[in-house]
Amino acid sequence: MKVNPKYNTKEALLELYNKPLLELVFEAATVHRQFHDPREVQMSSLLSIKTGGCPEDCGYCPQAARYHTEVDAHKLMSVEQVVEQAKNAKANGSSRLCMGAAWREVRDNKDFDNVIEMVQAVNAMDMEVCATLGMLNENQAQRLKNAGLFAYNHNLDTSPEFYGDVISTREYEDRLNTIENARKAGISVCSGGIIGMGEAVEDRIGMLLSYMAMETPPESIPINALVAVEGTPLEEQKPIEQWEMIRMVATSRIAFPESVIRLSAGRTKMNMEGQALCFLAGAGSIFAGDKLLTTPNPEFNEDKEMFDILGLIPKASFADGEKPETKPDPIIEARKKKEAERAEELKAAREASEKNGFQPRKVTTIVD
Ligand code: SF4
Repeated sequence: MKVNPKYNTKEALLELYNKPLLELVFEAATVHRQFHDPREVQMSSLLSIKTGGCPEDCGYCPQAARYHTEVDAHKLMSVEQVVEQAKNAKANGSSRLCMGAAWREVRDNKDFDNVIEMVQAVNAMDMEVCATLGMLNENQAQRLKNAGLFAYNHNLDTSPEFYGDVISTREYEDRLNTIENARKAGISVCSGGIIGMGEAVEDRIGMLLSYMAMETPPESIPINALVAVEGTPLEEQKPIEQWEMIRMVATSRIAFPESVIRLSAGRTKMNMEGQALCFLAGAGSIFAGDKLLTTPNPEFNEDKEMFDILGLIPKASFADGEKPETKPDPIIEARKKKEAERAEELKAAREASEKNGFQPRKVTTIVD
C-alpha cells in the first residue's frame, strides 16, 4: 500500500494531522509496524560536495550566492576526497551517502563526469548512494542510474500555493519534472519538505497531496524543520515546536505506509524524548554526522548513545531495494582512453628524444 486510501483528500489529511497527538502517534506507530521493522533506523550521511555560490534564491538556503551568510564556498571535491568521507561515514554506521552540490541544475561537463565517478566509487563500497544536484534531464538521470545511483533527492519543499513565497527562480513544475526524470531512469525518489518557513498547516498537507497525486509516491520522504540561518530571508523565523515535527512525521507515515520517512534537518532543536516520539511515529532514518550540508547536526557519538538508549538498530544498506549495478560510462571511458593514448604518445616522444641524445634546452634566467 503505497498511499493510504483512507487519507487521500485534503480534509481527511487535515483531520489526521490535527488529531490528539498521542492518538496520532499511536495510529502512526501501528501503520509503521505493519510495513517496517520499528527498531531499524537508517543512518545516512549528507556530504556537501560543492558548497555555496548557487544562483537560485531559495529563501531558507545559506548557499544561495545572493544572501550574505557565513558559508564558505568551495568548488567540487575530488573523487578521492569523497571516497575518504564515505569511508568515515561507513565506519560510523552510515549505510547511505547523500552527496549534495549547490547547483541550479546539472550541466554536462567535467564536474558532472566527476560526480559520475564519485557515484561509481561509493556504490562499489556497498553504500547506498543518493545525490542532490538540482534539476536533472532524462539523459543525466540515466547516466547517474548507470553509475550506480540508488536514489535522487529533489524536494518539493512545501505546497504549490506557498512555494512562490519562498522560491522565485524556478517553478514547482520544474521540480516535478526533475522527480519524473529520476523516476523514468529507474532511480528511487527521495523528496520531502521543510516546515517552519511561515507556511500554514494546509501547506504541509498540500505538499503531501502533491506526492499523492504522483503515479508512484517517493520511496523516501525527508521531513526537515527550518534551521533559520542569519543572512537568509527566513532568518527571523522562530523555530517550530518539536510537537509539530512529530505531527508531520506521523501524518506522512500514515499517508505513505511503504515510504521511508526521514527525520532530517532541525534535530539539534529537539530533545531525545521528542526524537523518540518521531521514531515511534514512524521515522525510519536520520542524517548522522555533525553537518547537514552547511547547517549543524548532532554528532555521531550522540546518535550512537541515543540508539543504545532507545534500542534502535542501524539499518543495513540495500534493505529497501537491490544494489544498483554500475555500468561503464561511455563518456568517462572515452576520456580515459584519450588520456591513456596521450600518455603513450608523450612516453614514446620522450623515449625517442632520449635515444637520439636530445637534451632538453636549458633556460637561463638573468636577474639584474
Ligand atoms: S536549496 Fe539548492 S537550489 Fe536552492 S539555493 Fe540552496 S543550493 Fe541552490
